[in-house]
Amino acid sequence: MTGINFSCTSCGRCCHDLRLTLSVAEAIQWLHRGGEVQVLCHAAADLDDLSPVVAYRSARSFPARSGGLAIRVQVILTAQFDGACPNLLPDMRCGIYGARPNTCRIYPAEIIPGLALKSDRKLCPPEAWDDRQPGYLSADGRLLDVVTDTAIVAARAAGLAEVGMRRALATALGMKIAALENEGFAVWSIPSDSLLHSLRDAVQEAHDPSKDTPSPDWLFVSPRPETLALITAAGANAVSSANHDQVAYLPLY
Ligand code: SF4
Ligand code: SF4
Repeated sequence: MTGINFSCTSCGRCCHDLRLTLSVAEAIQWLHRGGEVQVLCHAAADLDDLSPVVAYRSARSFPARSGGLAIRVQVILTAQFDGACPNLLPDMRCGIYGARPNTCRIYPAEIIPGLALKSDRKLCPPEAWDDRQPGYLSADGRLLDVVTDTAIVAARAAGLAEVGMRRALATALGMKIAALENEGFAVWSIPSDSLLHSLRDAVQEAHDPSKDTPSPDWLFVSPRPETLALITAAGANAVSSANHDQVAYLPLY
């Protein structure tokens, strides 16, 4: 592998039509600014034998059950917008640059350890990757950009530290529907005021073991008959449609 050179050209492409992953604190700030936040949920069987990427996700999920199957549920907070980000200025600069979410600081690098950066899968224009740009990734895969590296470390740590908060949030919102990991997401659209309230409560309750409540019996949703058959054969509960006015299904492919 050769190294990668990169410098952001401020083209603004990565600031359009996004679901921007947020930490709990970032989601609270985003809602405070009047932005929209959605709650995405996926789950998988709780297995011991995991690839590094699945192990990374698994460490950021909480244990639960669906029927007779032990599962792990991951709750992901995203800022959702069609078109330009509400914080994007007309000259393509970020209007909240000093307070922008870590995901914005990290792009186009990868947050998941071991996931290779592929420039042809990124939105950045060719000139951003020109050999005359500063070194970004060393030949042995080390990130050379300190700002990006710092944001990755912070985002990985937040993902681990927030597992209890996300579980408390799921409980507070009455969440018990998840898509199958790697197939899609159950997208929970909660009114902003309620979500802000529940996020604040989740931060408090995650640090209070007396507030720990039993996990509900989770339900997988999948539009694919073959997936439904696999899930039910594993002893879990599955339906083809969420049939819930706050839940939509977002396929990954
Ligand atoms: S917060 Fe700033 S950097 Fe992030 S998507 Fe919006 S405009 Fe772009
Ligand atoms: S797409 Fe790439 S070059 Fe364009 S603003 Fe985003 S990070 Fe910078």
